[in-house]
Amino acid sequence: MTALTPPSERICLSAPDVTEAEEVALVCALRSGWVAPLGPEVDAFEVELADRFDRAHCVTLSSGTAALHLGLLGLGVKRGDVVVTSTMTFAATVNAITYTGAEAVLVDCDESGNMDPDLLEEALQSCAAEGRPAKVVLPVDLLGKAADHDRIRALASAFGASVLSDAAESAGAVRGGRPSAAFGDAAVLSFNGNKIMTTSGGGALLTDDGVLAERVRYLATQARQPVVHYEHTDIGYNYRLSNLLAAIGRVQLQRLDEMMDKRRQHRLRYIEQFQGLPGVTVFGEPSGVNGGSTRDNWWLTSILVDPKRAGFSREDLRLSLAAHDIEARPLWKPMHLQPVFMTARAFVNGTSERLFQTGLALPSGSVLGQAQIDRVHGVMADFLQGHCAA
Ligand SMILES: *Cc1c(COP(=O)(O)O)cnc(C)c1O
Repeated sequence: MTALTPPSERICLSAPDVTEAEEVALVCALRSGWVAPLGPEVDAFEVELADRFDRAHCVTLSSGTAALHLGLLGLGVKRGDVVVTSTMTFAATVNAITYTGAEAVLVDCDESGNMDPDLLEEALQSCAAEGRPAKVVLPVDLLGKAADHDRIRALASAFGASVLSDAAESAGAVRGGRPSAAFGDAAVLSFNGNKIMTTSGGGALLTDDGVLAERVRYLATQARQPVVHYEHTDIGYNYRLSNLLAAIGRVQLQRLDEMMDKRRQHRLRYIEQFQGLPGVTVFGEPSGVNGGSTRDNWWLTSILVDPKRAGFSREDLRLSLAAHDIEARPLWKPMHLQPVFMTARAFVNGTSERLFQTGLALPSGSVLGQAQIDRVHGVMADFLQGHCAA
């Protein structure tokens, strides 16, 4: 299948990977007359997503952020409630909590980058002791690796909290044989342009709870009562996914395994490149553990650089790549260090801060061809030759 992406000198971190198949599907949807945020492509996409990710129900939405927002509302989160989430995430997670008027309590990560269950326990205990037990725990599957959902679920249950899982980065990842989006009372996917599969913009909420799914669908459709005239008893939102974009999503879902495999190949090549280099660690699993029943989706390959041992910093490498029009980016800056969330209560141990200071995400897109990957490795090899102690 021919890629549609125009040839470009610039190498991006994670550019959309679309082919003629997506183009054909989009044009067919357009010509069908269903140019609206509902239609047969949306219906089919929801069935296919639920099937792929082992869930009874799926509601597609205009973004992952919208799915987080409505997931929280659907789970009954109200102004003044407490939602405990991971500080090592993209701002969208905490923004969505803030939209509901709830208080976000931030928890640091362990070495995997995902929520540290011991610190989560501390946070839940502390909230309960203050008489404000957490309503929802919102873990995040960082960079395509599923969090420790078994322990998180057990802790949440012990403290009477629901679990909403932010699987925006982990579509296709599995843990103990289960898809990452199968964990939690509900899980959220993102189909933003930089994610592993895209609809250009979009998201989904997946759940086994039919009442929750209907509530989210209702809130996403301006909370219209099922009567002929416009009747409203709740504040609603305009968050449905366009039928045109669902057509793109259906093809992307069919191509998910192929796109994951390309990213996996990129990761293996990076592992080879940094093999034996002091002070540089490739962040994340090379292929899979437990016979492949737990594995990443290999969304963004990142490295951690210890400048003392490596002889260079992640910023030295980033600037050198940037000079050759190759994009690389620091890992997420933790939310408790963000000016906008500085006053949030946080249970931290320094891990996310260290990952932010030493981590660098490298070009990982499945759209990158051999020549482009060769170019990245050529520039890195030159850089390493100039910087390594040896
Ligand atoms: C991308 C992302 C989101 C938001 O998804 P959008 O579809 O861009 O709104 C939420 N959480 C995490 C962790 C993400 O990486």
